[in-house]
Amino acid sequence: MKLLIICEYCNNSIELPADGYNHQINFSSAVDGKFKLDHYGVEIKNDVSASLDINFVEDLAKARNTDKVTQILEDRIEENLSIDSKLTELRIDCGKCDNYFILSNL
Ligand SMILES: [Zn+2]
Repeated sequence: MKLLIICEYCNNSIELPADGYNHQINFSSAVDGKFKLDHYGVEIKNDVSASLDINFVEDLAKARNTDKVTQILEDRIEENLSIDSKLTELRIDCGKCDNYFILSNL
């Protein structure tokens, strides 16, 4: 399969064939300035859970002051949390004029 994007205002176009091996289209490297992709809508559910690594917990337990605790949390809290998010919309802008479209309900 391939993706064909055509701007009906200025006739800017690009044809993006999927990779034959893994069926992927690397959009960001393929468009080469002709079009711009924007992660327009991202839905983040209220579902944040912690999956704490034992080394992370042990390092927190060994911390001798609040500065050290703060540093450990700032450096590693993201890798110890799981946030359920879903991309809901993609916006693609024409690189030659102001036209764009939004893929919605992904
Ligand atoms: Zn255009």
